Amino acid sequence: MSGTLNEYAAIVGEDVIGHLRQLARGLEGCKVVHVNSTREGGGVAEILHWLVPLKRELGLDASWEVIMGDEPFFHCTKSFHNALQGQSVSIPESLLRGYEDCNRKNAEHLREQLESADFVVIHDPQPAPLLNFCPNRKGKWIWRCHVDVSRPYRPVWKYLREHVQGYDASIWSLAEFAQPMPHPIYLIPPSIDPLSEKNRELPQFEVEAVRSQFGLDPQRPMIVQISRFDRFKDPVGVIRAYKLARKFTPLQLVLAGGGATDDPEGAKVYAEVREASDNDSDIHVLLLPNDAHRTVNALQRLTDIAVQKSVREGFGLTVTEAMWKGRAVIGGDTGGIRLQVINHHTGFLVNTPEGAALRIRYLLKHRDQLEMMGRKARQFVLENFLLTRYLREYLTLMLAVVHQTMDRIEL
Ligand code: UDP
Repeated sequence: MSGTLNEYAAIVGEDVIGHLRQLARGLEGCKVVHVNSTREGGGVAEILHWLVPLKRELGLDASWEVIMGDEPFFHCTKSFHNALQGQSVSIPESLLRGYEDCNRKNAEHLREQLESADFVVIHDPQPAPLLNFCPNRKGKWIWRCHVDVSRPYRPVWKYLREHVQGYDASIWSLAEFAQPMPHPIYLIPPSIDPLSEKNRELPQFEVEAVRSQFGLDPQRPMIVQISRFDRFKDPVGVIRAYKLARKFTPLQLVLAGGGATDDPEGAKVYAEVREASDNDSDIHVLLLPNDAHRTVNALQRLTDIAVQKSVREGFGLTVTEAMWKGRAVIGGDTGGIRLQVINHHTGFLVNTPEGAALRIRYLLKHRDQLEMMGRKARQFVLENFLLTRYLREYLTLMLAVVHQTMDRIEL
């Protein structure tokens, strides 16, 4: 937990915080349990780290549980992730049974807590079957999907749909992702915590220390992509863009990533990235520990342009983080990146390494444009993607789920 509500007031204004308190009064004392499959790494864990303590501060009895899984379980759920984002993957029956069994085992020690909760929020497919293993549930169960499901591989989605259709509601990041469901669907794009170690202001000496730590040249422009080593983030495409742009302008590239504990493919992609980087001493491939938040923060401040050249992206918190630091973003024209990178205003949307290279060259040549886009980017995040907006929407949704059949809801 990085800040209290009063500290956020200094950034977003007192009114916004007052509004949150007013909404939360209708939910005081409610027991809310969030469940996902990793405590560190990736956007979901990032959000739960602040969401749960802030709900507590608002008077809700909120907690966060992480399910355990073995290697085949995470292999299976990674295949779900790939399939939901459009890859045609066939998942053997044995892995699917293992996935269900693993949830059954987790339900054994979570059951009491989950069945007695007023709200259970299940994040992504990993813990989705828990619902079926809690037959005496008393509260409302909400499935929160963080993945880009705009064009899922149908056979896998059909299987997962069986596990999620029984929920009382579902939340999706974007309208394009929301799949038809027999329950109410809510759209809530994610957001960031401006006071976290990842996003707060840093003293200049600390930023410079990170520059020296990784041997980055202060004289030459730099582009940075922070991401798990995942093919959907297209790190190899970023290297191609860098190589194309560097023919015309001096440049350094930082590709920094760590591994989420629920992502077994990372090592393979990391090896591909190393190979593509061809021992170029201006390509810095950094494997960061999961808690290197201040390092990520500093890299996002050191860069001239932030890159997030994903080919699929649920939302792209790294985009929000860089924009909050006043950086224009060159982002893949996909998923949640489109919600944040407003073409020609907060950055550029691109579809190919060639397109990315062209925009890199353009922005490095037109520094005034680069700065203006950076200013707009920060303002855009202030207005749309800070945690207070997210919290407001969550509280409103919870009230709506509780009162859905009532004609009048008194707040
Ligand atoms: N992240 C990090 N260290 C890394 C790579 C990523 O702390 O080495 C963080 C990143 O700053 C962001 C989150 O992990 O907060 C990634 O979220 P995003 O939505 O961009 O992608 P996801 O990993 O959820 O697909």
